[in-house]
Amino acid sequence: MTAGAEPSPRGARAQVEATIDVAQARRFGARLRRWFRANGRDLPWRKTRDPYRILVSELMLQQTQVSRVVPKYGEFLATFPTLHDVARARPGRVTEAWSGLGYYARARNLHALARHVTNRGRDEAATLPPDVASLRALPGIGAYTAGAVSSFAYERRAELVDTNVARVLKRVFAPDVDIKRGPGQKRIWTIARAILPRTGRAAWTHNQALMELGALICTARVARCDQCPVRSVCATHGSRFTSSPRPSAVPPPSDPASTGTGARRSRCRSAADGRSSAPCR
Ligand code: SF4
Repeated sequence: MTAGAEPSPRGARAQVEATIDVAQARRFGARLRRWFRANGRDLPWRKTRDPYRILVSELMLQQTQVSRVVPKYGEFLATFPTLHDVARARPGRVTEAWSGLGYYARARNLHALARHVTNRGRDEAATLPPDVASLRALPGIGAYTAGAVSSFAYERRAELVDTNVARVLKRVFAPDVDIKRGPGQKRIWTIARAILPRTGRAAWTHNQALMELGALICTARVARCDQCPVRSVCATHGSRFTSSPRPSAVPPPSDPASTGTGARRSRCRSAADGRSSAPCR
C-alpha cells in the first residue's frame, strides 16, 4: 500500500481486522493520546500548522537533538520566514543559517526543494502540497517526511514510520517482526496505517504521541514499561530492551525508492533514538 493512500471505509476496516486486534488497537490509541495530552512536551513545531515550518523542524530533527534544534529553529525562521525566502536566498546563506546543526546536506536539500516548489522563487504564494503522494513527488521528500508534513501541517489522516515509531509498534503489536527487513517494515507500515484514528485531527495527536512515546518511554536503550501508558495492551510489556538497531527511517516496502529525506533520516529523538541519551523529539 502506498503510504498515505486513503482506503475506503470498508477496506480500512477489513485491513485493520486482518492486521491487528481491533480492540487492542482501540485501547492502545485511546491510552496513547490521553497520555500525550497530559505529558507531551511543549515544542515550537507543535504549535504551528505551517507546512514550511513543519518541514524545517523535520529536517532539523534528523540526527540532531531537540535541545539543539529548538533555538536554531527560531533563528532560522526569523531569517527565512517562508519557503519563498529560502528559494530567493543564495545557497550559501541558507547553509550559513543552518550552522551549528551540522549535516549541511539538509540545508542544501531544503534550498533545492524551495526553488522547485516556488518555481525558482517566482511564485511567492507557492507552498507544500497536503497529500502524501504529491509530497513524495517532490525532490528530497521521503515517505516519513511526506507523512509528517501531511499529518502535522494539514492534519491529514496520514501514517508515518521512523525508527522510534517502528520500535513502539513492533513491541506493542508485532514482537516477532524484524524491522530491519523489507517484510517486517511492510508490516509495521501496515500497522501504522491500520491503527490511525478516524479523523485527521486525532491522527495529528496520535502520530505526535507515538513519536513522543518512542522518545521518552519506549526508547531504544530501555523500555520504561512501569511508566508506560500502553503497558496493559503491549505484547512485550515487561521485557527489557538494552540494544536496538541504529536509528534510521523505515521505508514502506511498497515504495523501495524511498531514498529521499525521510528514507535517509536517522532521527535523533530523546533517549529515544538510541544514539543519544538526550531528548531529540
Ligand atoms: S509497555 Fe514497555 S515495551 Fe510496551 S510500549 Fe510501553 S515501554 Fe514499550
